[in-house]
Amino acid sequence: MRIFRPIAALYLSFPLILLAALALARYSYQTAQQLAQSSEDSVRQTLAALGDQTRSRVDTFITDSDRTLFNLVDLENLGQFEKRWSEIVRLSNAIEAAIVLDERLLVVKGGYVFKRRNRQEADAFLRLFTDKILPVLPLAELSPDAHRHLHTQYDGIEYLLSYIKRYDKENNRVFFIVLRVNLDYITGTFLPELLQPIGDRGVVGVVNSRGDVVYGQSIREVDRYLYDSNFKSTLYRWRLIMAPRDSDRLRARAERRRLSDMTLIGLMLGVMVLGSAFLLYGISTEQRVSALKSEFMSNVSHELKTPLSLIRMFGELLMLGKVKTPEKGREYAAIITREAERLSRLIDNVLDFSRIERGKAAYEMKPGDLAEVVERALDFFRYRLEREGRQLEVNLPPSVPTSMLDENALTLVVLNLVDNAMKYGGTAPIAVTLHYDDRRRELLLSVRDQGMGIAPDEQRKVFERFYRTRTVRNTNIRGSGIGLALVKHITEAHGGRVSVVSAPGQGSTFTVTLPVREPSPPVEGADDVESPKVAHG
Ligand code: ADP
Repeated sequence: MRIFRPIAALYLSFPLILLAALALARYSYQTAQQLAQSSEDSVRQTLAALGDQTRSRVDTFITDSDRTLFNLVDLENLGQFEKRWSEIVRLSNAIEAAIVLDERLLVVKGGYVFKRRNRQEADAFLRLFTDKILPVLPLAELSPDAHRHLHTQYDGIEYLLSYIKRYDKENNRVFFIVLRVNLDYITGTFLPELLQPIGDRGVVGVVNSRGDVVYGQSIREVDRYLYDSNFKSTLYRWRLIMAPRDSDRLRARAERRRLSDMTLIGLMLGVMVLGSAFLLYGISTEQRVSALKSEFMSNVSHELKTPLSLIRMFGELLMLGKVKTPEKGREYAAIITREAERLSRLIDNVLDFSRIERGKAAYEMKPGDLAEVVERALDFFRYRLEREGRQLEVNLPPSVPTSMLDENALTLVVLNLVDNAMKYGGTAPIAVTLHYDDRRRELLLSVRDQGMGIAPDEQRKVFERFYRTRTVRNTNIRGSGIGLALVKHITEAHGGRVSVVSAPGQGSTFTVTLPVREPSPPVEGADDVESPKVAHG
């Protein structure tokens, strides 16, 4: 009872430990996920901030350079426009051409100035402007001084136009100023200057509406930390695309981290659960063994006491001469011999058993004949069988191969199996059979009784130390529960195995299977070595 409480507490705490382990695993998993997520978020945020800033800088640059030019237009002196402007436009890198329109949307005299030397090209643009661009420019809806952009393309060529409505208060007239932004300058000079420093740290590019790269490296769309956004007000058909240079590495690292976190958490959980399970298993096994041990102690002391008191009692009777007939005297002496035999077998078992317990069961393997060992062991029972009127059917082959064995230990095996058959086998005959399997080179020794049998769920347990079946525990048949454990140990030490076939109420057959281990041949006189004999039987 003293043991019960801590064990019960332990059983109770097992689900608690499991629950705590699960909660801890869940918490660690979430923290790991959050950590990975926040580092990814911070990369993405940094990228987004940089991207937004870059887009604004492009817009600001274009808008500012437009405004500078717009402000230079002296509407009161348009006569001077062409002369002054051609100079300014020529000097302004970002502007390719400028057009001034009057309120009827006609190009004012000298109102078209351009940078390119190529006259034909300049004329072609003016034609394109008046024919196609002007009709779609929402000039009429423009509020004064509002600055707008048109980003468009004709025949595969992109155009960025900047336009504004201006009042000439002096003459009460309205003018429209349209600038053609020099996209070659933007892509060839401005963007490289602006984006180069970013490009050193990451991957950056500008793509047009068809997805062609206008500037920078092309970026795989699948990239995880991708920034992809159209320019806001000027080059709104173009997109700025960015990614950290080592995004693949970052991703791989994050993936690795996630994986190692998960493995660690899994391992931790596994170790906790396994550890607790082992602890429980160990404790419950120990508990069972200690319960069995105390039962063993009481059984053994009982088994020791009974034969001793019998020996003493009949010894005293003989000593005091209280024997009526010589037959009675022989009978008393027989009882004393039988009980002494039982006592010595029990002591043998206990001694051998404690040797096994300490792990020092050293067996003395010598070439031997199992049939002879069995025969000699059965001799021990002759008298007891006769007295109890039991029959023993022995079936031994005339010869079996010589094998390496410990005769004393195997005698103990036979004694235990036959003793059990006599104890638990009812009154029907007991069959002891030795058979040699030539093909598998194995010796099979079986002891069959027709007694109480063993329930299926106990057939493995009977080979455990101290185990006695439920049926036997309810009878007054004496036993210590170590005989079969010894049989198993000895058999396995000989490289063999022991098994039982049994059904409750129908008897049991215990079979010990031993491989034939040939003695190593002596160096000389190989002819003297007995070749293994084949058993018939
Ligand atoms: P014991 O000293 O109790 O006989 P053993 O180790 O020899 O110890 O056997 C363990 C238990 O196995 C026995 O207590 C008994 O319950 C069961 N057992 C062994 N042999 C037989 C048998 N031939 N028939 C039925 N039960 C058996």
